[in-house]
Amino acid sequence: MEPCIFCKIGAKEIPSHKVYEDNTVFAFLDIKPHTTGHTVVIPKKHGVRVFDFEDKYIGELFVSVRKVMEKLDGKLNPDGFNVGWNHNTAAGQVVPHLHIHIMPRYMNDGGGSMHSIIKNPGKMSVEDVAKLFK
Ligand code: 5GP
Ligand code: ZN
Repeated sequence: MEPCIFCKIGAKEIPSHKVYEDNTVFAFLDIKPHTTGHTVVIPKKHGVRVFDFEDKYIGELFVSVRKVMEKLDGKLNPDGFNVGWNHNTAAGQVVPHLHIHIMPRYMNDGGGSMHSIIKNPGKMSVEDVAKLFK
């Protein structure tokens, strides 16, 4: 099996700048930050996608993400955050170990919102999509 770079970072076999750690996650500064304090949060267990983890673990992961945000808030005092993950290659995932990006945001930093990731609504109308969920 290919050695996983994020498993190695979580196990401290590869050095990184730690932001936060608990039993569930390891959080470290992104090597190519998009904002000041851009942080990557990884579950200590290996899994590629959010579907690979059981509900309880995802719950703990979410709590830990909030703790990382609180820590960043205390140290950097940003004006906001974008928080999310690239799920699968089509969505831009490069490292195949689930990781949540936390990007602190600052007023007038020139960045966009979640809406700026893609603007391609496709051919299906909202009503047609809605029918799938009836
Ligand atoms: P993805 O594109 O898979 O959602 O994001 C992977 C992120 O991990 C990228 O933002 C990239 O800069 C970061 N990254 C990749 N390798 C390393 C590394 O060895 N150390 C650190 N600190 N960040 C990394
Ligand atoms: Zn891994």
